[in-house]
Amino acid sequence: MRRALLLILFLLATVVGPLRAAEEPAAPALQLEYRLILTQPNLHLVTVEITASKVSADFLDFVMPAWSPGRYAIYDFAKNVQEFEARGGQGQALAWSNLDKQTWRVEARGGGGIVKAHYGVYANDLSGTFSQFDSTHANLNGSSIFMYVAGHKPDPLTLSVDVPKDWQLISGFSDSTSERTFQAPNYDRLVDTPLEACADAKLAQFKEQGKSIRVAVHSYGDDKVDPSKLLAGLQKLVHAEMALMPAPDFGSYTFLFHFAPEISMGDGMEHLNSTQIIIRGSLSSNLAEALETAAHEFFHVWNVKRLRPAVLGPFDYTREVYTPSLWLAEGVTTYVSYLALLRSGLWTREQFLARLSDEIHALEEEPGRTLMSVESSSFHAWFYDRAPQMQETNFANSTISYYNKGALLGMLLDLEIQSRTQGAKSLLDVLSALYHKFYEAPQATYYGPGRGYEERDVLEAVNEVAGSDFTGFFDNYVRGTAPLPYAQALSAAGLGLRIRAPEGSPPSVGITGVPDDRGVRVFAVQPGGAADRAGVGRDDLLVAVDDQPLVAEDLNKRLKAYLPGASVPFTVERSGRQEIVYLTLDPPVPSSFTILELPGATPQQIAIRNRWLRANN
Ligand SMILES: [Zn+2]
Ligand SMILES: [Zn+2]
Repeated sequence: MRRALLLILFLLATVVGPLRAAEEPAAPALQLEYRLILTQPNLHLVTVEITASKVSADFLDFVMPAWSPGRYAIYDFAKNVQEFEARGGQGQALAWSNLDKQTWRVEARGGGGIVKAHYGVYANDLSGTFSQFDSTHANLNGSSIFMYVAGHKPDPLTLSVDVPKDWQLISGFSDSTSERTFQAPNYDRLVDTPLEACADAKLAQFKEQGKSIRVAVHSYGDDKVDPSKLLAGLQKLVHAEMALMPAPDFGSYTFLFHFAPEISMGDGMEHLNSTQIIIRGSLSSNLAEALETAAHEFFHVWNVKRLRPAVLGPFDYTREVYTPSLWLAEGVTTYVSYLALLRSGLWTREQFLARLSDEIHALEEEPGRTLMSVESSSFHAWFYDRAPQMQETNFANSTISYYNKGALLGMLLDLEIQSRTQGAKSLLDVLSALYHKFYEAPQATYYGPGRGYEERDVLEAVNEVAGSDFTGFFDNYVRGTAPLPYAQALSAAGLGLRIRAPEGSPPSVGITGVPDDRGVRVFAVQPGGAADRAGVGRDDLLVAVDDQPLVAEDLNKRLKAYLPGASVPFTVERSGRQEIVYLTLDPPVPSSFTILELPGATPQQIAIRNRWLRANN
């Protein structure tokens, strides 16, 4: 997926986890038929019927996933299940009980070898994780809809969908929009294939390396949607990314776009041969964002959907699964997507370098960068990958993003590998080598080709490809929190990093604040900064500076009246009482990060730069 857009705040001044649950014991395969009934759009109710035949066990456990692969957050989809019932082959009611919040145990003995589970799911969220059914469409993500039969995730199944005849059914199951019955080799594949049904999606198709690439656009934004620019951009992107990696093993891939001005947040979610991309806004005004998201999601075809950490396929849907490798799965995917935007010609060299500069700025602004490693950030994704927060947290000061630092590690590794191999190898050679070694390995589980990697396999692959030991790099920057060596890595390509506070920047008070009607509310205090030293804390309200009332938008302007080192009286309101607190202002925080060409670069540096920044394949 792509990282969520964060609420914009203004900065004033500037492992190894528990063992996986034991695999379920193999049971004789069931014959499984899933039926989706979409007849109650006004109630946003999706009806699911699962018929299991050839049942010999005394009971069957039907389990609703707690999470959906690609989004590392426990959502407990069972909370939207209603009206569960179970019947046997002759329609006779079968007794059932809940074992826990997500498991329905059905007594199967009286069913004559057949158990039919029937339930409704409330679905009214348009996102890459949840589902939505209303009068305009059904957009369904499998984990939020379909139960599995415990012990039978590996069994092949049939899915049939009842939708209005004039609705097109679009999914990675079939290139036909009128087909209503599909085969899935197992449950994981069923839920890895989102479904869109609607009357008015625009569909287009093109070929790349003999693969069929479908693009569906369902727009709530523009009256007359013209997807031609989106299509042209996607063609360039797909061409660029397919040239970077070995050919993927699908015949057809589906981009499923939604443009919706009314939703609160967009999304992007990767799947084996499709992706859901939901943009908040319209196609005409959000084309660049749509293409950026597509660049990221399409590279997941290789990185995370096929080349995957061992715990990410097959999946334990009942609880969190932990991996330290999301910096590679998500962050490096982001870095390669930037590279693909450059190679495809959709971005200029300047745009590419500016975005990397922005990523550097974002990390260098995080107090958590000295506290949390990127492996730890990956491991703890379950705390903050769009997980609802039930209590206040100190994330603003104590965490980093594995997308952000992972993208920067991608850049640093890429340049360092090119430097150590005199430009003969790059990070893409490492990703290809991992893909060959793990995805093209003998099939280890029912899930599909190959097997998953462990974090240690990444270092081994880098060392093999580069013919050089990267242990120190991984110790310092992947497992550790040492400052990232931007200047050293960029110099391999004759580039440098300029960091400065722009002329006229105000002195810093060292807080992140949010505007309030009566001043500025402190959201986070930078450890060791001016506010921290003066004892200012979270939720304090800064209501006046030097006895003059403070309008939130004016704080930077007010601070410009002082020099760093000045002691300035702030009126601070906390717990309903006001007091004067003197803050000794810090120097302006650097907010301008620019990657620049170094004068006097050697021919080898220039050769690496030109190869890295080339705009074609
Ligand atoms: Zn992603
Ligand atoms: Zn739709």
